[in-house]
Order: sequence, then C-alpha cells, then structure tokens
Amino acid sequence: MAEQQQRNWDLADIRDEKVLRAMEKVERHLFVPEEQAELAYENKALPIGHGQTISQPFIVAYMTAELQLKATDKVLEIGTGSGYQGAILAEIADRVYSVELDPRLADVARDRLRRLGYDNIEVKVGDGYDGWVEQAPFDAIIVTAAAEDVPAPLLDQLKDGGRMVIPIGTPYGPQELICVQKHGRTVSTNSLLSVRFVPFRRKLDPGG
Ligand code: SAH
Repeated sequence: MAEQQQRNWDLADIRDEKVLRAMEKVERHLFVPEEQAELAYENKALPIGHGQTISQPFIVAYMTAELQLKATDKVLEIGTGSGYQGAILAEIADRVYSVELDPRLADVARDRLRRLGYDNIEVKVGDGYDGWVEQAPFDAIIVTAAAEDVPAPLLDQLKDGGRMVIPIGTPYGPQELICVQKHGRTVSTNSLLSVRFVPFRRKLDPGG
C-alpha cells in the first residue's frame, strides 16, 4: 500500500470528527488532473478543466461541517465538478444526489466515483437551480458555485429543520458563504465567511 500523503492543510477549527475522518480518507489527488496531482495536498483551489475549480480543502471541510450531517441524511449537492466534495459527503451521509451543469464534468465525476466504489452518490446533468425534485426533500443542501440569491426551488426541497450552505454574491466579486435554515415557514440565514467561488450559471458558456 502506498503511504498516506501528508495533508498540508489546517483543519484545527473543524470540530466534526466525521468530517475530519472523511478528509483524511478521501485521496484528493484522484480528483484533479494529473498535472495538478502534486498540489493536491496543499490548501489550494485547483483547476479541473472547462474553466472550473475544485475548492480549497479547508472550505470543503468547513461547508461540510456546517451541514451538521447525520449518517441517515439525504444530501443534495449543486455543482459536482470533480466529485471531491461529493465523495466527502458520501463518506458521512446515507445518500448524495449531485447535479452538474456541464455534462463533460458530470461524466468524468460519475465514472471516477463509481471506480472508487461510491455507490451512494448519484450524479445527473442539469441546471441545479431546479434542484432534484424527484428525490426531494433533503436533510441538507450544499451549493458549490456562487449564486446571486438562494434559488427558490432549493429552499422548497429542503426538509423542515434542514440546513443549506451556499455562497451568495456577484460573479468574481464579493461573496459570502451563508447557512440557511428552514423551520416551518420561517427561514433564518447566518453569514459565515467571505469566499471566492466560480459563478453559478444557468447555461453553459458558448464555446464551452
Ligand atoms: N464541488 C466541486 C466544485 C465544483 S466548482 C468539487 O468538489 O470539485 C462548481 C461547479 O458548479 C462547476 O463544475 C460548475 O460547472 C457547476 N455549476 C455552475 N452552475 C451550475 C448550475 N446552475 N447547476 C449545476 N452545476 C452548476
């Protein structure tokens, strides 16, 4: 067995043991292009092709911890990208449903997750604005691209008592990671930290 790669990221602020265990277990170099593999264990966002990026490990851990997942939870992810965040969720929750706008990224991520043995995550191509109505409601929702507002369908598909973590802001401008909680008909939002995510898009850019 190859030796476990030293993870050069600081998760001292993350208290959730399940999240820390998943971050130790999932091998990030398997989720990035080969030419990025040597940077996979740094706390860096990395390009994954088609103008998209895999988030910093700290942000992945932080967002996952904010979801306060239980082993029985059903989770919706918007923005599959490389599949790395999905794998972290799949280590902790019961089932993960992940929506990706770009079919090229979705195909690669789906194959990768299957090859790695994740049989509790399903990837589909689509506009994540609409969520995944056939599988709703969800205990938790995580969005990994920055939207200008919380998409109303996602709020509808969140269970009562559920949590959604989503970056809100302008494309390439100031963005805030927020946690949205639903309690009956009231919704509370809590601002967590400043972030930089790729934009939430409603369709693919012309030319790819
Ligand atoms: N969670 C990913 C990070 C991906 S970056 C990972 O762990 O690698 C954000 C992703 O969101 C990109 O792949 C982008 O194509 C996707 N995206 C952007 N807008 C979207 C939308 N409306 N619906 C679904 N996916 C979207």
